[in-house]
Amino acid sequence: MATLTTSLVDVLGGKAAKVFEKSLDLATVADLLRHYPRRLVERGELTDLAKLREGEDVTVLAEVLRSEVKPYRAANGRTDARLEVIVGDATGTLQLTFFGRRNTWRQRELQPGARAMFAGKVGVFNRRRQLTHPEYVLLAGDSADEPAADGFAGALIAVYPATKDVRSWTIASAVRLALVSLDPLVDPLPAALRARHRLLDLDTALRAVHEPDSEGQWYLARRRLSWDEALGIQLALAQRRAATSADPATARPRSPAGLLSALDARLPFTLTGGQREVGDVLAAELARPHPMHRLLQGEVGSGKTVVALRAMLQVVDAGGQAALLAPTEVLAAQHARSIRALLAELGEGGRLGAAEVSTRVALLTGSMATAARRSALLDAASGSAGVVIGTHALIQDQAQFADLGLMVVDEQHRFGVEQRDALRNKAARPPHVLVMTATPIPRTVAMTVFGDLDVSTLSELPAGRAGVATTVVPALERPAWLQRAWQRVRAEVEAGHQAYIVCPRIGDGEAEVDKVWGADADDDDQSDPEAATDSPRRPPLAVIDVFANLSAGALAGLRIAMLHGRMPSEQKDAVMQEFTDGAIDVLVATTVVEVGVDVANATVMVVLDAERFGVSQLHQLRGRIGRGAASGVCLLVTDSSPETPARERLDAVAATNDGFELARLDVQQRHEGDVLGAVQSGRRSQLKLLSLLRDEELIVAAREEASMLIEADPDLSGHPELAAMVAALVADDQAEYLERG
Ligand code: ADP
Ligand code: MG
Repeated sequence: MATLTTSLVDVLGGKAAKVFEKSLDLATVADLLRHYPRRLVERGELTDLAKLREGEDVTVLAEVLRSEVKPYRAANGRTDARLEVIVGDATGTLQLTFFGRRNTWRQRELQPGARAMFAGKVGVFNRRRQLTHPEYVLLAGDSADEPAADGFAGALIAVYPATKDVRSWTIASAVRLALVSLDPLVDPLPAALRARHRLLDLDTALRAVHEPDSEGQWYLARRRLSWDEALGIQLALAQRRAATSADPATARPRSPAGLLSALDARLPFTLTGGQREVGDVLAAELARPHPMHRLLQGEVGSGKTVVALRAMLQVVDAGGQAALLAPTEVLAAQHARSIRALLAELGEGGRLGAAEVSTRVALLTGSMATAARRSALLDAASGSAGVVIGTHALIQDQAQFADLGLMVVDEQHRFGVEQRDALRNKAARPPHVLVMTATPIPRTVAMTVFGDLDVSTLSELPAGRAGVATTVVPALERPAWLQRAWQRVRAEVEAGHQAYIVCPRIGDGEAEVDKVWGADADDDDQSDPEAATDSPRRPPLAVIDVFANLSAGALAGLRIAMLHGRMPSEQKDAVMQEFTDGAIDVLVATTVVEVGVDVANATVMVVLDAERFGVSQLHQLRGRIGRGAASGVCLLVTDSSPETPARERLDAVAATNDGFELARLDVQQRHEGDVLGAVQSGRRSQLKLLSLLRDEELIVAAREEASMLIEADPDLSGHPELAAMVAALVADDQAEYLERG
């Protein structure tokens, strides 16, 4: 008999097990049984052959129409023969070709009317789709006299993700063997929970997902197994939440007179209601002797920075330090600039003219000159800098803090749990953690990926924002519109405003790689390769070329500069500073301006090859304008044709300014894996059935159940099977991280 942990060697024998391991990465009975069928076909139901695409590895169920042996003269002059079999129906046909003279037995098997599953790679020969030497199994007739004669259990046949070494039916028979010898399974889910949500028991579900009696039972089996996935993750997260909130942390209560009060007194604006409310929540949590662990989401421009700064100052007032982690050097430098400006003499600690209560703001990025870097490191280590701002260089080992009390992570979507952990480890005791994101995260993703955090939302924008109007400019259909776009840029500049022009590429001839968190985190060239499927295949426009063209052409005479991730960091800083000061009219840039860059005087943005950017990315980009009293204009220039998916995405972005609605759209248009992939690849392999897009209700319910279970039994000692399930999941996560690290 076998259990889930039994090696496939014991079930299939050494030779077969080796192939399964090598080809499908399946080593145990559990691995095999969790290799779920992709779909079911009914014995009578034939595959729609018209849908097959060249190059696809397919498993199809089809009926033989005719077969014929055709002699032909081979290259060496000898006569040879091939068997041509046509399968299909009125909707489409496929040719099967078997070379060689010894195919008579095959021809006998593949008589007109015979039905079989065929597997192979779709090729094209003489403009006809074909499989060459496909493997196949004949199916018994529909009469069901002898339903098991072909090795399939019943009227429903499971089709598995297969490879050329292990075909779908081979997997089916291996599963059959495993199920036959499998001891009845103990269900890790408490019976009451199962009853509440009407879930099949594990033993039934795991059998039925492979060999269902009916479609209905297959659905129930999948639902139950999706529950396992959702609950496992939610339990792990609930445990993590419970553990962090039990951790000791240094309480940093608000002091009545200090930097925070001084800042509040000198803020050039009134805080919005939301900023105040979230501020109160943070203030209370920082005062507790357990670490805060909170996600702050807020629309682009909702004023998250000042919320974070106020929390940081509370910690500094209480004797600790605060670190602010930004995803790019440009953004880190800008945070440093704007925070220094807000603090003014409050931030000049140790200098002449500093306020009575004051601190110092240190900036630390990867490509800083050695001397500046050394002095920033010193300020952080000695504690003389209360506020330390940086890129992920802060995570690197050299950075030490005297007493890190609060870690703020800006634009969270670029950081994974591991990076947060790495920075947390820099403190003697776990610091308080505030994570901020301007990319609204759909609820299920937030629950799954950031489920260890509590969530606050800033939905209100500060008053006096004029907003952004977005227009799609179809450059091929309406070349005149593009001319008008440049005229508009010129007009805005003449009215005293500034402009961004965004391109998908740098164009300096270096390999243009898609960097996620690379050696240094300037996020250039994040253009979405899948977004561009229907645009003509000219290379995407590049900053360097566009800069040269516009300077000499449409925008001649304006003060234009370039900004991209491969410029030296002092140069980037200098350009951003000049743009902030109004000494540059037009900035031609990559998505390096996507996050957080804040120049209120900028009113126009022209995004070139806009179809190359993702929906959320475009929303982020245009968030750079319309921040002041003057309204913003965002022009999305594209060569994509009307009614293509690319163009429809752009129209959607133009139609709404609601970031949450766009986030939903974005998630819908990506593959599930990509949704998680950007943040946490480890989760991907754990979600086989669960869909973050479709299973919202299930995920919410699982989260509630998980919270209840962990509250009652924090280490799950009363539920050893559940504990084991969670342990396996966490181990997987860590293994994946170690592999990547
Ligand atoms: P985001 O939430 O996108 O990070 P920022 O924190 O960069 O937004 O804020 C955008 C701009 O709004 C900044 O210039 C900031 O000084 C300003 N701001 C923040 N809060 C307010 C407010 N309550 N009233 C007016 N302006 C504000
Ligand atoms: Mg910001």
